[in-house]
Amino acid sequence: MTNKLISKKTIIAIALIAVMICCLWLLTPERAYAASSKKVDALSYKMTLTLDTKSNSLSEIVTIKFKNNTDSTVRKIYLRDMTPAVLKYDMKNYSEDNKDLKTKITSVTLKGSTKKLGLTFKKGRSAVLVDLGASGQVKPGATGTIKVKLKTDIPNRADRFGYQKTKKGKLYALSFCFPYLADNLNGSWQLDPFFDDGESRSWDLADYSVTFKAPKSYKVAATGTSTTTEGKTTIKADDIRDFAIVACNFMAKDSFTVKGIKVNNYYLDGKYKTKYRKATKLISKDAIKVYTEQIGEYPYDELDVVPCLFGFSFGGMEYPGLVMTNGSSTFSGSLPDYWSLSDGLSHEIGHQWFYAAVGNREYREGWIDEGFTTYLERQIYGLYNGEAYKYIRQIDDLFPTIKSNKASRDELLKTARKDYKNIYLNVAPNKYPKGQEYGVAEYEASYMFLQELRVSMGDEKFGQFLKDFYAKYKMKRVTTKTVVNFIKKYDNSKKTQGIIDFYIKK
Ligand SMILES: [Zn+2]
Repeated sequence: MTNKLISKKTIIAIALIAVMICCLWLLTPERAYAASSKKVDALSYKMTLTLDTKSNSLSEIVTIKFKNNTDSTVRKIYLRDMTPAVLKYDMKNYSEDNKDLKTKITSVTLKGSTKKLGLTFKKGRSAVLVDLGASGQVKPGATGTIKVKLKTDIPNRADRFGYQKTKKGKLYALSFCFPYLADNLNGSWQLDPFFDDGESRSWDLADYSVTFKAPKSYKVAATGTSTTTEGKTTIKADDIRDFAIVACNFMAKDSFTVKGIKVNNYYLDGKYKTKYRKATKLISKDAIKVYTEQIGEYPYDELDVVPCLFGFSFGGMEYPGLVMTNGSSTFSGSLPDYWSLSDGLSHEIGHQWFYAAVGNREYREGWIDEGFTTYLERQIYGLYNGEAYKYIRQIDDLFPTIKSNKASRDELLKTARKDYKNIYLNVAPNKYPKGQEYGVAEYEASYMFLQELRVSMGDEKFGQFLKDFYAKYKMKRVTTKTVVNFIKKYDNSKKTQGIIDFYIKK
């Protein structure tokens, strides 16, 4: 995600930090955890989804195949269903448009059986313990398959999971609404809470095959590759950590290829349609080009760039193979904001490298994907004199020059040690010291951490570090420890150790 508060307006960030450094606090230790392949592993998800645009509801049948890679027999498994947490959040925070929303898992059964399995709901119903019963237990090395039926209302909300109604039609963002197997480490289930400011999604890779039914007038964008005939979209997506769909009846698409990747650039039938379409096309082209050259290859064959109507100051949201970008200001706004569009979209595309390819535990160590992505957005894309930069400079007088981007980066570096004193990157939101807001560590301090390392190592060595780190951990999961050890391999100097000690809590 692009941080809502500080996607662009660093002034707001600095003001926030000023307030925060006036506070004193104690930090609690964050336990490191080791990466392991001894886990209960989700292999595949087969989903049949039906969108009802009259009642704004979604029916889901999800078949989950998993493998027991632990040493003991699995008798119970944990599922995550974030819909109760999302709907609860929306009824509280977007209460005017969201009353009495309902969601329910109607059944969980074993493959080929109609007998309902016993369920125990925990963590505000976001964690569902499924008792597989005597016939469902899975021995070490064996696989199991369950079928989940769920029906949920779709909230009236712009981002993540929701619909919006405009004069032109309706737009549905469908994510955070599909049940999945909880992440598992050494046989222990990881049940991070739903967290609306940031993310707490699965890091596990699995293959998805999906059938999505919607009225024929709807254009459908989805993670992976898809084809739509007569309102039925068939989707295939392998090796992904999360899945998303956007369906809209006033959206069109334009496809092109860059570095061998097919980009589907969707656009809304809005006020600045032509400029939006051209800007997003050029930003996507340039971003894919520089990230491929300076980091490594994009992990999938296709990327969907999809507009949502997020409103003021919200950048976008990343999913594997699909990014939601903010089309609000160009759809109906009186002041189209190409600056935010450029920052937001180049950021979300960056997440394809850090989040979709190199995975991490978002809730506990969100600094990894957000920090590296912010670096990609500001240092790699933000300083690139490409087609998008030239075009947006022409159509937007406020769009900053590369020279001013460099100057603001250097200004931030000058005050980083003062601004981020006692802000540690590897502290989860539920362990924050009093007064710390989400984003300050995850986006800003982490960006400075990487910038300080770049200065300490030198551009060339740091550039090689990024490439090698990506090559080694692409389609794997990393922890703070993995990152730190890899940095030390490149530069074991006292200066670099000092940077690590300043930003990373032991
Ligand atoms: Zn982000």
